[in-house]
Amino acid sequence: MAILSVLIPAYNEAAGLGIVVEAVGKHLAPLGHELRFLLIDDGSADQTWQVIEELALRQPNVSGLGFSRNFGKEAALLAGLDACDGDCVLLLDADLQHPPHVLPQMVKAWQNGFQIVHGVKLQRQGESWFRRLCSRLVFGAARMLSGLDMQRSSDFKLLDREVVLRYREFHERLLFFRGLIDWLGFRTTTIPFNVAERAAGKSQWGMWGLVKYALNAILSFSSRPLKIVSMLAVVFFVLSTLIGLKTLYDWAVYQSAEGFPTVILLIVGFGNVTLVAICVVSWYIGKIYEEVKMRPRYIVTRKVNRPKAG
Ligand code: UDP
Ligand code: MG
Repeated sequence: MAILSVLIPAYNEAAGLGIVVEAVGKHLAPLGHELRFLLIDDGSADQTWQVIEELALRQPNVSGLGFSRNFGKEAALLAGLDACDGDCVLLLDADLQHPPHVLPQMVKAWQNGFQIVHGVKLQRQGESWFRRLCSRLVFGAARMLSGLDMQRSSDFKLLDREVVLRYREFHERLLFFRGLIDWLGFRTTTIPFNVAERAAGKSQWGMWGLVKYALNAILSFSSRPLKIVSMLAVVFFVLSTLIGLKTLYDWAVYQSAEGFPTVILLIVGFGNVTLVAICVVSWYIGKIYEEVKMRPRYIVTRKVNRPKAG
């Protein structure tokens, strides 16, 4: 019999949290392993913490951590991974969009020797075409800029204890869970799942949230944008050298030089590339600034049923 930790981050999920815990229990109980739930309240403004306390009172295998404020899902996942103590950990959202009936398949894959089992999104039901288009655009750009597939990858995963121990060794402030788990390697498999509609409440992500999330992921995970900017510099260097040579040639042979259009185009082109380059560099400097401050990545102010750490 193995110990399975079930990690659920929750931000304003009072309405659905109990349902998720029950559904997970129902689907995993037949496997006969010991289940330990760890619920993270990411500084919710609703009754989420009270719900966690009630669940913990009723079920001794439920423990909880609460943050001093909203630190974001990445921080909630990190706190959970710091505190969980199972032989493997299952991570899922609190809104039933990660279907609990897939969990037994994940556990079976783990028992067959896989150390990381990724849930891969098949399709998203109940999303407007506009939102789907926007997320495709944002994530398509993100993929080009970082090599990460954020469109289909998800935080719905099973991680072996060894993977969790390695994840704890990352000391960066700006963690990007999905990317870093990919980066770790290990014996890995995927299980496709259909993203269900939210059980209750509403998504915490607006369009701007999506862009910010993708931007953070790219900046904290990849330096490709810096390389693209340097490549642009090379392209513009070659281009301007050619134009310069032609101007010299015209001046030498015909005693004339090209007029305004060339000058205007050059000014606009160089101006734009310079501004984009400054933008990219300053984004990275911003990230470095956040990293060097070495602030705590989350602050736990509440605990119930004594989770191991945090
Ligand atoms: N979440 C969190 N902190 C946040 C935002 C979200 O812990 O600041 C949790 C949320 O409660 C849920 C999961 O992360 O369990 C996914 O959030 P959501 O459903 O809003 O995202 P979506 O499914 O739309 O990507
Ligand atoms: Mg959701």
